[in-house]
Amino acid sequence: MKTTILGYPRIGANRELKKACEAYWANKINGNELLKIAKGLKKQNWLLQQKSDIDIIPSNDFSFYDQVLDTCLTVGCIPNRYKNIDKENTLDLYFAMARGLQKNNIDVTAMEMTKWFDTNYHYIVPEFSKEQTFEFFSKKVIEEYQEALDLGIKTKPVLIGPVTFLLLGKEKEPGFHRLDLLKRLLPVYLEIIQALTDLNVEYIQFDEPCLALNLTDQEREAFTLTYETIHKEFPNLKVFLANYFDCYGENLETALKLPVDTLHLDLVRCQLQLDDILNSEYFNENTKLSLGIVDGRNIWKNDFEASLKLIEKALTKVPFENLWISSSCSLLHTPYDLDLEHLLNFEIKQWLAFAKQKLEEISTLRNLQLPENDAYLSLYEENKLANLKRKTSRLIHNDAVKNRVSNLKESDSHRENNFAIRQAKQKKALNLPLYPTTTIGSFPQTKDVRNWRLKHKKGQLSQEDYDFLIAKEIEDSIRFQEDIGLDVLVHGEFERNDMVEYFGEKLKGFAFSDFGWVQSYGSRCVKPPILFGDVSRENPMTVDWSEYAQSLTQKPLKGMLTGPVTILQWSFVRNDQPRETTCNQIALAIRDEVVDLEKHGLKIIQIDEPAIREGLPLRNEEWAKYLNWAVKAFRISASGVKDETQIHTHMCYSEFNDIIASIADMDADVITIETSRSEMELLDAFVNFEYPNEIGPGVYDIHSPRVPTLQEIENLLLKAKKVLPKEHIWVNPDCGLKTRDWPETKEALKNIVKAAENLRQLE
Ligand code: GLN
Ligand code: ZN
Repeated sequence: MKTTILGYPRIGANRELKKACEAYWANKINGNELLKIAKGLKKQNWLLQQKSDIDIIPSNDFSFYDQVLDTCLTVGCIPNRYKNIDKENTLDLYFAMARGLQKNNIDVTAMEMTKWFDTNYHYIVPEFSKEQTFEFFSKKVIEEYQEALDLGIKTKPVLIGPVTFLLLGKEKEPGFHRLDLLKRLLPVYLEIIQALTDLNVEYIQFDEPCLALNLTDQEREAFTLTYETIHKEFPNLKVFLANYFDCYGENLETALKLPVDTLHLDLVRCQLQLDDILNSEYFNENTKLSLGIVDGRNIWKNDFEASLKLIEKALTKVPFENLWISSSCSLLHTPYDLDLEHLLNFEIKQWLAFAKQKLEEISTLRNLQLPENDAYLSLYEENKLANLKRKTSRLIHNDAVKNRVSNLKESDSHRENNFAIRQAKQKKALNLPLYPTTTIGSFPQTKDVRNWRLKHKKGQLSQEDYDFLIAKEIEDSIRFQEDIGLDVLVHGEFERNDMVEYFGEKLKGFAFSDFGWVQSYGSRCVKPPILFGDVSRENPMTVDWSEYAQSLTQKPLKGMLTGPVTILQWSFVRNDQPRETTCNQIALAIRDEVVDLEKHGLKIIQIDEPAIREGLPLRNEEWAKYLNWAVKAFRISASGVKDETQIHTHMCYSEFNDIIASIADMDADVITIETSRSEMELLDAFVNFEYPNEIGPGVYDIHSPRVPTLQEIENLLLKAKKVLPKEHIWVNPDCGLKTRDWPETKEALKNIVKAAENLRQLE
């Protein structure tokens, strides 16, 4: 019985890779220095895995930016617009594809980025043309194998499988389907495998997580063709086929028939598939199974008792030597090392395992299977005790919260009256002009603002002084908004570090790590809060600043909250109760805040829910159930107020088409979305559905420092006006302005106000 993992985090325990990449981009270090830092990180990871008793250690799981982008370079899938970049300098070509490049007469845009399955990790989307050809271009996979071999470690190189690679990409012109390219791509994979087997590689891990999706027959056939071809050419190669994030589902028969050495199962997401496989008539006794038992997506200690039961079950049908113990997916999605956390509550810390601790869990689970396992029994007992303590901890359980959730009534998720009635009452109460203007919440988080927060946190700035500075910043922003004539004002969110962390810090049931970073995309990392217990709101969270801001102006001020689904989605969530229950607890806490804001005079309250779409399950048969509870949680948070109070939501950019009915079902009085980059194309979903409530399609691309001209904004608004009832249209930027600087923000917002005025003139 072997131990393995599917991949290890690569940013470094102290985000060394992030810092090195950013230094390289800023010309502060050169390519060689960057490569050297990378080499050190890889070495550390490999040696640590070796020390932790991982038998088959992965290589090529390292990446400077993203593993799908790496694959594009490996198979020479490089869009034409990069052809003028010196191919010899692979690093610059690579980063140009990742981030775009403006230098010496070269001006190329970056490749598109999108979410990796249902994670918060983003990958670079491969681009395919009709005449697309492939070649074995970057030799990274070979070099990394060799690099580990030089350390005496014979690794299992990881490649994104050819079918998943094609399916994750996009056709950039009409007239073909990307799977048509398989016949051109497969020979390049064979070439890569040849080069690896020339170095005596024993195992290759092919990541094919698309097997967790709903597939067509044609797509399933592509898997069969691929792995039969590989097996035919390399009968001695041991193919380790990795599917994760869900079960094989309706693709199980196809997967079981593939001529592969080992089939990996994500048993964290889907335990039942083990029974399905063991009982399947297609299960081949010689196929090895990799039991992905240790959670690669979350930070809880493994439950050894439960895991051993699964292993025992597998052992009833599969011989000992044909089983692997592994992580459910790559450990990329977990933070590095719990040992670095010194401030975390000691009791909570005992329930957790980060990547390094998960390595130990995997080897312990295997070692417990060995005949002489006495040495490991104490680890088993320790684990059992920690899990028992967690189950009964007073930190976690709050009966009042549990009761409140179980006593939720249908009426708690409904406003008093329907939208038409509310709209009429709100028009009267708010007295806003046609095409009201507003912003999405945050204003620039200047260096000063961030410094104050940092100093305050370190105890170098007293609460009083900090509050004074924030109050002044809010006042300035209110004066500015009034001066330029915005209709609905915001306080600016200067007191917030992050839209989830801020609320997590104020709610009970959340804990925070100091170094719990995970890669989101490229050099960007996030540090999700740890949602460990029943969630409750002991005190108001935003009322003081909102009330203060409202007191500074006669215009309506919009209170600003993060919604329950987004807080859930962007945290490490407890695994001891359904996500739905946790989400309802958060919803009730937010509801109390909404009601409090109303009580303190706020007439408009925005509840941001940008993460609703990202929580969508991978298989569409699960969608309805998820959308049902997610929408309900939002509605619970929004429904405690009277008809006159206007509820906004904001959803950033997302693929709205599939879920538009659910978005409408959220029944927010106003929704704002990102539409400027797509030239209002994203509005189509709302128009086709005849979205019933009010809507603010973004007219200012806040991802760029560029100031949109008056003309551009007017054009966008005219487009919106053509397809939406005019009494439904709001005028606003795409998203919050926290990443922008004040000068461009001021110019852009002035243009927005002017454009709305001009539009009113046309009436
Ligand atoms: N209110 C938040 C802000 O303006 C919304 C950010 C988001 O949706 N990502 O920053
Ligand atoms: Zn947004």
